[in-house]
Amino acid sequence: LPESGPLGLRVDGAGFAYPDDDEQVLSGITLTLAPGEKLGLVGRTGSGKTTLARLVLRLYDPVEGSVRVGGVDLREADPASLRSRLCVVTQDVRLFGASVRDNLTLFRPSPGDERLREILTGVGLGDWLAALPDGLDTELRGVSAGESQLLAFARAFLADPGLVVLDEASSRLDPGTERRIEHSIDRLLDGRTGVIIAHRLSSLSRVDKIAVLDHGKIIEYGRRADL
Ligand code: ATP
Repeated sequence: LPESGPLGLRVDGAGFAYPDDDEQVLSGITLTLAPGEKLGLVGRTGSGKTTLARLVLRLYDPVEGSVRVGGVDLREADPASLRSRLCVVTQDVRLFGASVRDNLTLFRPSPGDERLREILTGVGLGDWLAALPDGLDTELRGVSAGESQLLAFARAFLADPGLVVLDEASSRLDPGTERRIEHSIDRLLDGRTGVIIAHRLSSLSRVDKIAVLDHGKIIEYGRRADL
């Protein structure tokens, strides 16, 4: 994949069935995003939003059709490049019983503590960090739901991806955390391509295009302004 900048997305006639399952959960999915554009995915539960996001992240390959990111068919993309250029932020954040630093870098070489502090401050965790007994060396435990969400955003900023998949939290957090998350979403999407699984209508204010899924098919798709 291109090593820097936002990545375009092109899904062409993609269909998918989970292994050992005859029934297709996605079929005939076609959509495009220019680099930097944002797509909102909506549809009732079980309509296939998460599955489509998984194809974009190449957690699975389509059984028909193709998914191209940055002009490259994901089946031909270098796995290391996929890991560094694609990023997902979901509600289910995996944190480790390890230092704050390792939880951010995921045990990869660190860009330096100054950068890590800057990122944490940027997502609204500056005061939280300042209160930790050993700063970035503090072992993570007892992190609240809101804090883990914000840590997930910090991870994403550190990864600096060209395409972000965002599975928005469906349950509300306290207003202060909500504001910090909203702010982080805006900053993370700025200058990057985004696929947003939207659970709230208000989230659609930041997307350029919307795809409505129903039983694995797109029943409505277009620019937000035209729908
Ligand atoms: P929600 O809004 O509830 O997250 P969704 O629109 O994201 O729903 P998916 O999670 O993509 O929908 O599910 C689409 C279909 O695929 C559903 O019928 C679901 O039961 C099925 N499914 C999802 N994940 C798996 C899996 N890992 N293995 C088998 N079937 C799955």
